Amino acid sequence: MTARLIDGKQIAASLLADVKERVDERERRGLRRPNLAVILIGDDPASAIYVRNKTEACKRAGIASVSHILKTTPTEAELLALITALNEDDRIDGILLQLPLPAPLRPEHIIEHIVPTKDVDGFHPYNIGRLAVRRPALRSCTPAGVMTLLHHTGVPLRGLHAVVVGASNHVGRPMGLELLLAGCTVTTCHRFTNDLRTHVASADILIAAAGKPHLIPGDWIKQGAIVIDVGMNRLANGRLVGDVDFSEAEKRAGWITPVPGGVGPMTVATLLANTLQAATLRSPS
Ligand code: NAD
Repeated sequence: MTARLIDGKQIAASLLADVKERVDERERRGLRRPNLAVILIGDDPASAIYVRNKTEACKRAGIASVSHILKTTPTEAELLALITALNEDDRIDGILLQLPLPAPLRPEHIIEHIVPTKDVDGFHPYNIGRLAVRRPALRSCTPAGVMTLLHHTGVPLRGLHAVVVGASNHVGRPMGLELLLAGCTVTTCHRFTNDLRTHVASADILIAAAGKPHLIPGDWIKQGAIVIDVGMNRLANGRLVGDVDFSEAEKRAGWITPVPGGVGPMTVATLLANTLQAATLRSPS
């Protein structure tokens, strides 16, 4: 058996085209374009690339963006003051704080300062809580993007056993909540999980989000499973790989995402869909 590839690039492109169409439609009705404020702190090259990809995607979708690039690390008070100003600025619909933040800034503390209606990353405890009680508002981009990929397979998700490897606040935990909302039976694994192999081998849907290259050998995968690899690991030779050994896993899985070209583009496209959603919530007419 060879798995069918889930083409994240193509699915993200069609989501972006849909966002653009809805943005243009808003403009025809006299509403301004949604506007995303992006905050980038420090000189981490990977973060700079992510921000560039996001602002370029904004352009493609007709969404305006304003970048706040802070080369020297601000104090927490200065950063909170910037976020307060963006929270209160009526021309701003979404606030994206690019992570990771340099020390000593405390990401969870600062994220809580973003007003939940502009939290287009879907990281604020209010938005995670809404998802937990089955009334999602702005959803965390990567898990929501994964759900879009799963729906694209056409496989009915209800009742399937989904195993999430990784339990971070921004990926693993909201991922489990999304799958639960979709009617899956969910197991979450993390660094203290005993016998990871047994859990992985029982997964109808496997979401790998540990950030450990080759953590999951292909022969652990259940025959016919849907495998979504969120991991993005840069090897010493410069190659980008996921957490799953793709070449072996694709022989057993029913569906699989590539790395790159799987979840990554979906995260960006979902961020823009969230920005449009935030703008629509603020000016619904
Ligand atoms: P994180 O380091 O915050 O969390 C990793 C999680 O994996 C933790 O819960 C940890 O307990 C678990 N873990 C670590 N080692 C493990 C092991 N041996 N067995 C089982 N669980 C283990 O990372 P994160 O921010 O959640 O990101 C995870 C990965 O996803 C990274 O590679 C990151 O680059 C990638 N990522 C990709 C996208 C995307 O758009 N494609 C978005 C966000 C994160």
